[in-house]
Amino acid sequence: MIFIYSDKVYADIGEHVFPIHKYRLVRRKLIEEEIATEDDFLNPELATEDDLLLVHTREYVRDFMGLKWTHRTERSELPLTADIRTSYLAGTGGTILACQKALETKIAVNIGGGFHHAFPDHAEGFCYTNDIAIAIRKLQRENNIKRFFVVDCDLHQGNGTAYIFRDDDDVFTFSIHQENNYPVKQRSDLDIGLADRTGDAVYLAYLKKNFLKIADNFVPDFVIYLAGADPYKYDQLGGLSLTIEGLRERDEFVISECVKRGIPLGILLAGGYAIDTNDTVTIHFNTCKLAYDFWKSLNR
Ligand SMILES: [Zn+2]
Repeated sequence: MIFIYSDKVYADIGEHVFPIHKYRLVRRKLIEEEIATEDDFLNPELATEDDLLLVHTREYVRDFMGLKWTHRTERSELPLTADIRTSYLAGTGGTILACQKALETKIAVNIGGGFHHAFPDHAEGFCYTNDIAIAIRKLQRENNIKRFFVVDCDLHQGNGTAYIFRDDDDVFTFSIHQENNYPVKQRSDLDIGLADRTGDAVYLAYLKKNFLKIADNFVPDFVIYLAGADPYKYDQLGGLSLTIEGLRERDEFVISECVKRGIPLGILLAGGYAIDTNDTVTIHFNTCKLAYDFWKSLNR
C-alpha cells in the first residue's frame, strides 16, 4: 500500500485557520470510499533530532525540541507544545517514509507534510520542520538518490525549500504560486508567480509547459510533489480560482508524467484552508485516489 498516516499528526492548536483534523478526515474518507482498509496505512516513526539536523541549525533544533519560544520558533504562527512538536515530527517522519516507500512502489503519499516555509534557522507560516528538505537529504545519504525535482503546487511560494537548495545543483525547486500573497519570496530554480484569480486553464498551461521542460532537461531521479489544496477558489488564505476538477487535472498531470517516465514520486498534501473543510478533504482525497489508481495500474 502507498498511504502513510500517523494519528500523531493531530494536535490541539486552539482556534486556528489551519484545519489540522483534515488528515484524519482524509484517512476516514479513503476507508469509507473503499480505497483502503484500516490496516492499509503505514505508520511512520517520528523524525529524530539527527534527521532535523540534516537541514536545521543546532540552535533552532535546540529551541524547537526544547519547546522554547524564541525569535527562531515564534514565526510559526502556531503555539508550541509537546503535542505540536510530535505532530511535526510525525509529519516529517511520514514524508521520509513516503519517499523511501516510493523507491519500491514508484508512488507513495504522506497524508500530511509539505512544510515548505520552514528555514534552517527558524520556523515560519505553520511550518516547524522542512520535511521536504529533510527527506531529500536522508534519501541522498541513505539511498544514494541524487537528483530531486521539487514540484511545489501549494498556493504559497516554497520559500524555505527554495532557500535551503539555492546553491544545490542536484535539487531543482519549482514553485507555482499566487504572486500577491504570503510569504516574502526566495528565489526557486523556477518560480511562476500567478496573478490573482488565475483559473484552471491558465494555471494548468503554465504548470504543464514548465514541468515538461524541467523534467526533460534536468532529468530527476526522484520527484517530490506538494499537492496543496489552497489554490482552490474558496480557500480562505488564497486568491487563485482553481476548481476541484482543475486541481484533479493538476494532480493527474503530475502523477501520470512521473509514471510515464518511471520516476519515483513522493506526494505530500501541504496546505488547504477552504471555507468548508469538506472541500479541502475532497481535494486531498482526489490526490490520494489518483495516486492509488496509478499505483494499481503499475501493479496489474
Ligand atoms: Zn499554502
